[in-house]
Amino acid sequence: MTPELAHASSLIASIPDFPEPGILFRDISPLLADAAALRTVVQAVIEPFTGSFDVVAGVEARGFMLAGAVAIAAGVGMVPIRKAGKLPRPAAAVSYDLEYGTAEIEMSDDLPAGTRVLLVDDILATGGTLRAAQELLSRLDYPLAGTAVLMELVDLGGQRVCGPVHTVFRV
Ligand code: AMP
Repeated sequence: MTPELAHASSLIASIPDFPEPGILFRDISPLLADAAALRTVVQAVIEPFTGSFDVVAGVEARGFMLAGAVAIAAGVGMVPIRKAGKLPRPAAAVSYDLEYGTAEIEMSDDLPAGTRVLLVDDILATGGTLRAAQELLSRLDYPLAGTAVLMELVDLGGQRVCGPVHTVFRV
């Protein structure tokens, strides 16, 4: 790992017992607030996919922040994948299981047919969220150029659910 990436990694805070007991929450906010670290991780997200995507899709909510930065750096646009009920014109919805209960995400179909999508989020945990986002793109017939996250929580096995996922950091 380069010194720049090591520094960026050191800025991800680990918060015990948030949002509930037993969860070690990985907070990327301090990294996003550091200009050099943000630039470094954005380049690391893009690098394997250079030239192979036309738009970046970010998953609500922290995926939005990353997707916007990645899109600007790559010279493409971004689209939001939102929690159910937030988009005025959703074209498809996919439900998925959470530890307790279910969640649903939605996407519009404003992109031209054949638009190649790079899917990004902050954390890969069990993989359920990104699997659902991949299914959304598939239902809308948008080719998946790749899937990338800042940090993978390796023990939770997300790569088996929605891999291969390009991950900048692994813990
Ligand atoms: P999963 O669907 O289990 O892969 O969870 C991924 C989603 O939940 C991502 O959008 C993350 O923002 C969030 N998430 C899951 N686990 C954590 C964690 N330990 N720290 C921060 N965010 C998490």
